[in-house]
Formats: sequence, structure tokens, C-alpha cells
Amino acid sequence: MHELGITQNLLNLAVQYAEPAGARRITALHLVIGELSSVVDDSVRFYWEFLSQGTIAQGAALHFERIPATFECRDCGAVFPRNANFMCPACRSDRVQVKQGEEFYLKSIEVEE
Ligand SMILES: [Zn+2]
Repeated sequence: MHELGITQNLLNLAVQYAEPAGARRITALHLVIGELSSVVDDSVRFYWEFLSQGTIAQGAALHFERIPATFECRDCGAVFPRNANFMCPACRSDRVQVKQGEEFYLKSIEVEE
């Protein structure tokens, strides 16, 4: 369960940004999560509940923005969504790489001053 460490980092990051800005409370976090990311949003929510207690982020809402997976062909450069066989639909090459969908990051926070 690596979500515990991830959630702790998110909390630290949010507080690090909010406190110098004079925020009294953090009300929401906007997170970006890729379709291929191994991060489970329900687990992040679960850990957030108790990790945020007693901090200025207590009770903050978590919003997850989902990024669909796309792949790029190294041979012809075609970009395409995930398919069953991970082959390029344009040239049938299997030399494909993930272009997007593995991300997980804190995009923005909402605060009360
Ligand atoms: Zn191709």
C-alpha cells in the first residue's frame, strides 16, 4: 500500500504551499491521476481522512481528474488509445511506448485566507 506515503507527501506539499501564502484552511486539492497509474483514489481518500486530522487541511475535498492512457508508436509516430494487443493500429509495429496515462500529481489547491 504505497498510497499511505503518497498521501502523506500530498499533505506535506499542500501545507508547504498554503502556509507561507497565509492560508487559514485548505479546502480542496485537485489531483491528476493517469489511467495507468497504480495509485488507487479510494485508498488516497481513506488515508487522507486521518492524516489530515489536526492540520489546516482537515476536511479538504479531494478531486481527481482522470487522464486516459495513450500510446505512441516509435516507428511511425502514430498516437493512439489503449488497445487489446498494444500494437500500433497504423503500421502494426509493437515498438510502442506510453505517451500519457501514468501521471499522478497535485495540480492545484483551494484555500481560505
Ligand atoms: Zn506505427
